[in-house]
Amino acid sequence: MFETTIAGSLPKPAWLAEPNTLWAPWRLEGAALQDAKGDATLLAIKSQEDAGIDIVGDGEQARQHFVHGFLERVEGIDFAHKVEMGIRADRYKAMVPQVIGPVRLKGRVHQTEARIARAHTKRKLKFTLPGPMTISDTIADRHYGDKVKMAMAFAELLNEEALALEKDGVDTIQFDEPAFNVFMGEVTEWGIAALERAARGLKCTTAVHICYGYGIKANVDWKATLGEEWRQYEQVFPALAKSAIDQVSLECFHSHVPPELMRLLAGKEVMVGVIDVASDTIETPEEIAETIGRALQFVPKERLIACTNCGLAPMRREVAEAKLAALAKGAALAGERYR
Ligand SMILES: [Zn+2]
Repeated sequence: MFETTIAGSLPKPAWLAEPNTLWAPWRLEGAALQDAKGDATLLAIKSQEDAGIDIVGDGEQARQHFVHGFLERVEGIDFAHKVEMGIRADRYKAMVPQVIGPVRLKGRVHQTEARIARAHTKRKLKFTLPGPMTISDTIADRHYGDKVKMAMAFAELLNEEALALEKDGVDTIQFDEPAFNVFMGEVTEWGIAALERAARGLKCTTAVHICYGYGIKANVDWKATLGEEWRQYEQVFPALAKSAIDQVSLECFHSHVPPELMRLLAGKEVMVGVIDVASDTIETPEEIAETIGRALQFVPKERLIACTNCGLAPMRREVAEAKLAALAKGAALAGERYR
């Protein structure tokens, strides 16, 4: 009864990239790397199917990082001269490329992996793209001189790729917007408008993933400063509820997000995070069913999808696979309990 899906990323096999590392360097190059990305995409699909996940994705196997994987295919960006920038309101420093001219797509971004994934699964296929606000917070601007203008320019490129992915047979396009939990005022001023620009004209399901980040130290330390109750969602959910986006993915299990904030998403499908990505402990089906039960006080059952809190990329493969299996079992248990 409750469909299951993942936020997006899965760990990469050790023969493709260094394990347990974010932004891990590739272990191959040229044609061998292209083949290996395709092979890893197949494995990602298979491991989700084996675990019993309903809406599967490519596990982001063909990109090094969820933002820069897109940017690498954009003209007007200087990757050779990266600069250090404090991102997510200076939560951590990253070496980021610079925008040095008008941005334009060099061609398709994710066609290869989308087609491989589509050819090898009959399940619903979800594809993730970075959201425009998060892109504009992960790159240095030396051209536009205006954050909103730059974000809108990226939104147009995202839209171009999203429409092409839809043609490739993708059922759900999800935009990842962790920046929505950081710049809440700007989200309502222009962030949602940029997101809607990125999703314009899509007939497939559209989604936005808003999280508190991967389970890495900078994020764990930041979460410790957010206090007893994390109420960031409270500022953006009412505006998202009025938006054209169909689904919203949020953190729930082991977070300090008050579950009643889900009530602010009336009319939307809610992807409830029932898997903690900052801990190697495998959730029990019982715990997952309980999290779903709590969410059901605020989300109608026909609109609830069980999901992970965020991507699983930095985890060990066996941990990620065990968590996927638990997710499917927990959702099935909740389905029996709350039918
Ligand atoms: Zn996330």
